[in-house]
Amino acid sequence: MFDLADVRVLVTGGSRGIGLGIARVFAKAGAAVAITARTPEQLEAAAATLKELGAARVVTVAADIAGRAGATAAVAEAAEALGGLDVLCANAGIFPEAPLATMTEDDLDTVLGVNVKGTVWAVQAALPFLEASGRGRVVLTSSITGPTTGFPGWSHYGASKAAQLGFMRTAAIELAPAGITVNAVLPGNVLTEGLADLGEDYLAQMAASIPLGELGTPEDIGHAAAFLATREARYITGHAMVVDGGQILPESAEAVTPSAS
Ligand code: NAP
Repeated sequence: MFDLADVRVLVTGGSRGIGLGIARVFAKAGAAVAITARTPEQLEAAAATLKELGAARVVTVAADIAGRAGATAAVAEAAEALGGLDVLCANAGIFPEAPLATMTEDDLDTVLGVNVKGTVWAVQAALPFLEASGRGRVVLTSSITGPTTGFPGWSHYGASKAAQLGFMRTAAIELAPAGITVNAVLPGNVLTEGLADLGEDYLAQMAASIPLGELGTPEDIGHAAAFLATREARYITGHAMVVDGGQILPESAEAVTPSAS
C-alpha cells in the first residue's frame, strides 16, 4: 500500500515552505524528486536535505514559471533529467498583500501570472510525460483563501486560488482518458519559514482559531499530496482536499473549543 518508491515527481516551488514539505515526504518514500524555484542557493540547500532523507534522485531546475516559455522549459528539463515524470505537484505561488482600493494592474497581473498561469503552463508542459507514465498524477496547491474563505488584503490572491480549482475541474475531465488524475490540496495556515517570522504571539492567536489547536506543518500538506499521488488514489480526480486542522469549520470564534494542550 502507498508505495511511492518508483515515482518520479516534480514539485514546483520546492525550495522552501510547503513545496519543500511536499518534496520531503516524497524523498522519505524513496521517490526520485525534482524541484524548481528561481533562487539557486535555496534549491541547492533543499536538494541536500532531500538526498539525506532518502530520495532515489534529486534534480534541481532554477527557473521562473510565471511565463509559458519558462514553465515549459523547466518542466521538460526536470522530466528529462528524471527519465520521465509520474507526478507533478504544481505548488509554486506568491501572496503579496494588495488591498482592493489601492491594487494596481501590476499587483493583479503578478499574482495571476505565477499562481494561475504558472499552474496552467506547468501542467500543460507535463502532459506528454504524464501520459507516457501511464499513471500520471497532478496535485495543485490551492488554498482555503479564495475557495472557502477570505482575508482582507488578499482578494487578488483569493481569486487566483479559486481559479486553480476552476482549472482543475475541466483539466480532470480532459485528462481522464489518459489515466491522469488532477486534484488539489487546500492548506489552511501552515507554519512555513515566512510565517514563523510573524512572531510567537501572532502564531498563538492563529493557532487558537483552529479546532485542532495548531498550525499545519509543510509535511501535513505533503502527506495529503503524496496520498493523491499514489496508485491507490487512482479513482479520485477533480477533488479539492482541505488540509487545515478544521480551520474553516467554526462559524464564529466562540465555536472553537480551547485546545487541551
Ligand atoms: P513560500 O515559502 O514563499 O515558497 C514559494 C515557493 O515558490 C518557493 O520555492 C519560491 O522560490 C517559488 N516561487 C515563487 N515564485 C516563483 C516563480 N515565479 N517561479 C518559480 N518559482 C517560484 O510559499 P509557501 O507558503 O510555501 O506557499 C506555497 C504554496 O502554498 C503557494 O501556492 C501558496 O499559495 C500555497 N499556500 C500557502 C499557505 C501557507 O500558510 N503558507 C496556505 C495556503 C496555501 P523562489 O522565490 O526562489 O522562486
